[in-house]
Amino acid sequence: MYTLRQYAVRCHRRQPVAAGPFVEFASRKHHVCFSTNPLYGTASNIISRVGIVGAGPSGFYVAKYLLKELGPGATVDVMDSLPTPFGLVRTGVAPDHPEVKAVQSDFEKVAGDPRFSFYGNVRVGYDVDVATLRSLYDVLVLAYGASEDRTLGIPGEDTLEGVVSARTFVNWYNGHPDYAQDAKLTGMLGEILAQASAQVAVLGQGNVALDCARVLAKRPADLETSDICEHALEVLRESKLAAVSVVGRRGHGQAAFTIKELRELSRIPGARLVVPPEEVAMGLTEFTIAELAQSRPRKRLTDLVASLPGPAVGGQAGEGRERVVALRFLLLPRAFLPDPRRPRRLGAVVFERARLELDGQGKRVVAVGTGETEELPCQLALRSIGYKSQPVEGLPFDNKKAVVPNRHGRVLEAASEEAVPVPGVYCTGWVKRGPSGIINTNIYDARETVAAIMEDATQGKLPFSSSSSLLEALAQAGRKKPEDVVSWEGYGKIDAWERRHGAARGKPREKVTDSRRLLEIARS
Ligand SMILES: Cc1cc2nc3c(=O)[nH]c(=O)nc-3n(C[C@H](O)[C@H](O)[C@H](O)COP(=O)(O)OP(=O)(O)OC[C@H]3O[C@@H](n4cnc5c(N)ncnc54)[C@H](O)[C@@H]3O)c2cc1C
Repeated sequence: MYTLRQYAVRCHRRQPVAAGPFVEFASRKHHVCFSTNPLYGTASNIISRVGIVGAGPSGFYVAKYLLKELGPGATVDVMDSLPTPFGLVRTGVAPDHPEVKAVQSDFEKVAGDPRFSFYGNVRVGYDVDVATLRSLYDVLVLAYGASEDRTLGIPGEDTLEGVVSARTFVNWYNGHPDYAQDAKLTGMLGEILAQASAQVAVLGQGNVALDCARVLAKRPADLETSDICEHALEVLRESKLAAVSVVGRRGHGQAAFTIKELRELSRIPGARLVVPPEEVAMGLTEFTIAELAQSRPRKRLTDLVASLPGPAVGGQAGEGRERVVALRFLLLPRAFLPDPRRPRRLGAVVFERARLELDGQGKRVVAVGTGETEELPCQLALRSIGYKSQPVEGLPFDNKKAVVPNRHGRVLEAASEEAVPVPGVYCTGWVKRGPSGIINTNIYDARETVAAIMEDATQGKLPFSSSSSLLEALAQAGRKKPEDVVSWEGYGKIDAWERRHGAARGKPREKVTDSRRLLEIARS
């Protein structure tokens, strides 16, 4: 005769057990078929309750691959701090990239599994703590992405109006409730962009930087049939933008953007993409040429940059005329300067000219300041140097790498080589590997995490969950009323509302950006 725990451990380990009075109780508790198969528990039927924090791509992919492994009695609860699912597919991906957003239909199929439940408007670490979640689930997967951004740490960054992170700008035009409802932000962006011959500097040269430049440079009429939010479109309609400079620290050979996005930027009707030829020449150092010889895609990209016209060629930029998008290289941001006429507002960015060198190990190309400076006049600066994950209370965090410390998706007790895994806690996506990679990268990541979970289940390494539900735990914590939690059915109502109102304007959807309104629609 075994205790319940011994019984379950033996099942986990696939050790024989004699059927006894615990069998029925254990089968109810774990929702598995112990009574019909009392001798062995398998990895797939021993996991009965999974909790996933974050309903972005990585959360959905882990749900998808876990559901393929789990038995019919298992449940997978996916919670998100927003009332809506899909993470950056909704709040990050550019509105004029509908083909990327089509991935949502894959996620909708995952949510259609009867074992799947969505709990929107539940912020883990606030509405419910991690210790409670660990007691509720056999397996807890962290997929909460990166909701902060990296900073430059230069003068004026925190004090001047007009210095904004690209993340803020993207969240704003994509309708993230925390940003789209920020009247001060909307007012400031509107005022700046409506100035005659407004100039914007985007600091950073990844695809997010190019998304921002493209949205700013496009004619509003060319965005009207996208799912860009109406408040953003109103601001862009009044925009008198003359120029956007997309500025990188290193040369064009090291730029992080990809050729598809660059081509798109070079083909915007009403805008002209330019590059100073001297900066292209400065970037073609001996080691950059050697590096490019190793990679045909990078060579094609740099050839495209080199083929762009210089800034002086063609007509003038300005109000009512062609907008100029300039790629700038080898410039290190050193300070944000105030506008002398409006000292609280940004007036220019000071850069130090850089040259390229190999680092001490001769492996990485680095930008080194030359002492020469340049002032770039601009009223808006979008800092686009990367997103950053945040710790959640009660869980380890690697502050240096800004990720949850993990080994192949198993969360570790500390950020060190020797650290041991926290039983039953896993991670995936941006919070696991850092904020890089496209949506599909999260597939490989999720598969690795699911493999680790199934291996641990087989080896009896998972803890046991309690029988209470997430809604009961939320009620007990007292921070969230059950009616304020959005179910998948509730999200279906939001989705239908948004599509209906979008169709009336010729858009795929008109996003609701007010959290209270989202909850009302979900409850309707
Ligand atoms: C601006 C931008 C544009 C992009 N464009 C493309 C593109 O065109 N094509 C492409 O393939 N990839 C693109 N990507 C990359 C892609 O979006 C990411 O690879 C992917 O979204 C990462 O998935 P994730 O689930 O790890 O994080 P996220 O997508 O960020 O999902 C995390 C989820 O966790 C939730 N969350 C956060 N904290 C908590 C908490 N405490 N409690 C509960 N929930 C929480 C968030 O609300 C969010 O829904 C883009 C990224 C950005 C930033």
